[in-house]
Amino acid sequence: MPAASFKRVLLKLSGEVLMGSGEGGGGLAIDPAVTARVAQEIADVRAQGYELCVVVGGGNIFRGISAAAKGIERATADYMGMLATVMNALAVQNALEQIGVETRVQSAIPMAAVCEPFIRRRAERHLQKGRVVIFAAGVGSPYFTTDSGAALRAAEMKCDALFKGTSVDGVYDADPKKVAGARRYDTIGFGAVLSQDLKVMDASAVALCRDNNIPIVVFNIREHGNFAAVLAGQGTSTIVQAEEMADARL
Ligand code: UDP
Repeated sequence: MPAASFKRVLLKLSGEVLMGSGEGGGGLAIDPAVTARVAQEIADVRAQGYELCVVVGGGNIFRGISAAAKGIERATADYMGMLATVMNALAVQNALEQIGVETRVQSAIPMAAVCEPFIRRRAERHLQKGRVVIFAAGVGSPYFTTDSGAALRAAEMKCDALFKGTSVDGVYDADPKKVAGARRYDTIGFGAVLSQDLKVMDASAVALCRDNNIPIVVFNIREHGNFAAVLAGQGTSTIVQAEEMADARL
């Protein structure tokens, strides 16, 4: 991976990576200890001089489509989901500032008393000053996800790559939890991800990254030091990129 040429990257965090797991985590939707660990990963990368945008999901608190299935009108449920992402954004901001990393939250849904509205040029200025900018509320419209929000912000902010921090270490040719011997791709093309319907990000997010030639790096953010390692071209990940760069290496 041409890590050395990356200057500005966007980290997409699923809501679930902020959740407490198992007994110790107490099942908290936002576990302060887990959030602090994730913040440290971000701080370590920031300290290396990268400009960092972050987009947080909300699935640990509320997912529009699940609520819609239970009878809440879809658009309303999605707005509730977007509000959940603002809560997560504030939690990550708090954790970052507790370790001395200046951070701004910008929401796609203006919420003047809580955070800044999304203003691209202002976000640009924050990044130039070395602040981490967290983008909340996805794209600000229902029927989208924060994956699409991440792809959109990565394009708008001219990020060199979109890092998708999840709890798996890449993209597999089959579900590794169900299929013994499922193999992880080192690199794969955007088209292959879309045509094989591989669960990387939703299709509109992958298409937006493809159209703007923004590689997607899928990696496990729960593993300590992994974000920095993957950025340095080490660690385990899958890079989704233009077909001519990727030869679907397993
Ligand atoms: N959402 C939305 N529009 C957006 C982003 C998010 O409607 O642009 C809603 C949607 O209901 C979604 C919820 O917010 O289910 C939480 O976001 P997401 O599912 O993307 O979170 P993640 O899976 O990354 O935790």
